[in-house]
Amino acid sequence: MSRLDLHLHTTFSDGSQTPTDVLTLASKAKVTALAITDHDTISGLPEAIEAGRSFGIEVIPGIELSSRWDNTELHILGYFLDWKNVELHRQLTRFQDARHVRNPRIIEKLNALGIHLTYDDVKALAGNASIGRPHIARVLIEKGYVTSTKEAFDRYLADGAAAHVPRELPEPAEAIAVIRAARGVPVLAHPSWLDRSEGIFRVCEQLKGVGLGGIEVHYSTHRPEQTAAYLDVARRLDLLVTGGSDFHGVTKPDIEVGIGKGQLKVPEALLEPLRKAAQA
Ligand SMILES: [Zn+2]
Ligand SMILES: [Zn+2]
Repeated sequence: MSRLDLHLHTTFSDGSQTPTDVLTLASKAKVTALAITDHDTISGLPEAIEAGRSFGIEVIPGIELSSRWDNTELHILGYFLDWKNVELHRQLTRFQDARHVRNPRIIEKLNALGIHLTYDDVKALAGNASIGRPHIARVLIEKGYVTSTKEAFDRYLADGAAAHVPRELPEPAEAIAVIRAARGVPVLAHPSWLDRSEGIFRVCEQLKGVGLGGIEVHYSTHRPEQTAAYLDVARRLDLLVTGGSDFHGVTKPDIEVGIGKGQLKVPEALLEPLRKAAQA
């Protein structure tokens, strides 16, 4: 049984596996096409595309951009990006610079709490990845301050925790515009993260007004009734349907490439409408 997986992270953002590792896992899971969607970076794409060639798996150039929606984060996936686009590179550098401002401030707060670590410790561990809180969490584990990523977030890094620093994030409309400008299709990631009183329909309606093209209906943690509800939203608003595992490797150990928690099945038929929308 062949399948798609349009939401995968690698070591170029906060995943634990290299693009080649991810393609190897995808091949085992009988995935025929996939998208690498690292946070705010496309740096993993050349390796992924090359590995895809040797496995005979189509690699769709993708990304996942973070944006601010009220007090929470809203993630926008982008598919079939013109990833060599110079303006896209310029915009992504700008988003990454915001991380470089934030991370040292988190370190300062941790130091003020009596925790001994430096930004260089975090950079050494992250290697060529775009640095994020999971890397800081791993340093805290290595240094024995906490025993798990969860504990690191609960005690220090999560919203409202002792060393939390809010992130400078673009508006969803700006993230959508960056993807559109690179001829990609912007898709609302994991709508279940946003499920609140106003309803996902209204969120999608508003975002469609600024260029949203699709909604991630199929997702590792969606319950069947959620999948059905998002499918209904997609139909009513004429949005494309996508799906993926949001694989991160060891940081989300219960989620596997292609099959999520075992129940995920992203229909192959979703790919061509997405491709057509990107070419339109
Ligand atoms: Zn996300
Ligand atoms: Zn993701």
